[in-house]
Amino acid sequence: MQAESVFMSENVFTGTSDEALPLAICVRGGLICAVVPKGEAEPFIGPSTRVEDFGDAFLCAGFHDAHVHAFHSALYSSPLAEMFLGESEADCVARLAPLAKRKPHGWLLAQGWREYRWNPPVLPSKASLDTAFPSRPVALYSGDAHTLWLNSCALRELGISRESVPPAGGSYDVDEEGELTGIVREAAAMALMPRIMATFSDEEILGAYQGFLARLASLGITSICDMALSAEPGLDFVRDDIYRTLEGRGQLTCRAHLFPTLTRDVSRFESMRDELRGPLVQARGFKQFFDGVSSQHTAWLAEPYTNAHFEGDCGRPTVDPALMRDYVMGAARRGFAVRIHAISDEAITQAIDIFEEANARFGAPAIGHHCIEHLENMKEPDVARLAKAGIVASVQPPHITLDPGGPERDLGDERCKVMWPFASFLREGATLAFGTDSPVVDVNPWSGIYTAVTRQDAKTHEPKGGWLASERISAADAIRAYTAGAAASAGRENEIGKLAAGMWADIAAFDRNPLVDAEQCPELMLETHAIATFLAGRPVFDSRKA
Ligand SMILES: [Zn+2]
Repeated sequence: MQAESVFMSENVFTGTSDEALPLAICVRGGLICAVVPKGEAEPFIGPSTRVEDFGDAFLCAGFHDAHVHAFHSALYSSPLAEMFLGESEADCVARLAPLAKRKPHGWLLAQGWREYRWNPPVLPSKASLDTAFPSRPVALYSGDAHTLWLNSCALRELGISRESVPPAGGSYDVDEEGELTGIVREAAAMALMPRIMATFSDEEILGAYQGFLARLASLGITSICDMALSAEPGLDFVRDDIYRTLEGRGQLTCRAHLFPTLTRDVSRFESMRDELRGPLVQARGFKQFFDGVSSQHTAWLAEPYTNAHFEGDCGRPTVDPALMRDYVMGAARRGFAVRIHAISDEAITQAIDIFEEANARFGAPAIGHHCIEHLENMKEPDVARLAKAGIVASVQPPHITLDPGGPERDLGDERCKVMWPFASFLREGATLAFGTDSPVVDVNPWSGIYTAVTRQDAKTHEPKGGWLASERISAADAIRAYTAGAAASAGRENEIGKLAAGMWADIAAFDRNPLVDAEQCPELMLETHAIATFLAGRPVFDSRKA
């Protein structure tokens, strides 16, 4: 049987072993029809076969980011908005200047500030923004998007006054005089998001998605899971309409697996499933939120935070456990998988309890696997329980070093001993799926792979020796988590994530061999660049033509 294309290299990592070998990948109709030793490709090559020999480049399955918020990733990587950390309140205000120049009218939107990394670590207020921008609305979401910092003009445009009542689970912060500070928290910050985002036109947003897709392809990423952003119905920002438009125009260069918010009403999901039947965009399951984030003491702990703000400061469940149970049983009864955001030990324990019950009552999901997202600090026995229940561990390695000293400060040394336990997951036989939670951190997979291998930050290379170094994993395991493991999080491990006969020909070629770099000098993994990216055998990025 002749192949349409044959991709070959001295270093092909199929995902089925730990090595990169001299192989040829033969492709027909977008699918891999054979993977053979490089010297044995001849029978597959006919007069019309396109043969690409990548020499000693590293070929592997296209990367799959298992946890992305595509709308926000697209927006903040576009010229429409800004993403920055900022060294201080004043620095954040100053960093808005280029955006204000680029966009002379209307809202100024940015995300990324983390006041706990400032010195002193105090919340900003509307005053600094008012001085710089007295007459146009400004909105700055924090790095985790849980807190919103507004100026007076934005508060006015949104109709928020000192008398306004925030939605349950949120707040409009006020000072001692009862004056609004411009800080809006949690559910209240979430509720304002669609109104702020509605200030962009459909064409602007579509352009932002196109830019984001081009970046993904340039990084060798051929799949994403687009995850609901919020627990609230209508606020998940999973934009099936945009994917439909892009797919219709033939501009979709990455597979997108949609995970809208799980509520009792599953009709939106079911209509997405019915309408999205192609191999590129599919609704694969649900997302829900069990807790928040440790740095804000909203992640749900069994025992209080080490630096407790008040007695019994254990965080809290975002969704009441009884309601979460109802939600999950409702989905599981229909055979659908659920992905639960659970950062801290109590949320994780209860999520596993619920999934165990769902499995006992309804069996494993017909499509996909239940997943837990983030999995930061855990009770030790829960690692094995998660593996035994067939729950995919969906984690984001760059988060390990996002808040240096934060875990020790918030959780104490004892709880830090079982945190982001990647090696333990693999030892217990769990499936590990890697992603970024973009835009929380950038989508470049090599930062995550480097951090998983070294337990060090990709920018600072700190801490020396690695944070909880016993949980380091090999480069081969890290790449598998970014390909086959992530495919499992979308329930597509039989179609994508490995280079094997019968799989889609989603392939990335890179200019360095990370298996060698990981052994010799892990920092060099960060210098890895994609040479070319193929989706179903079709080129979606080629640096040689750029
Ligand atoms: Zn997320």
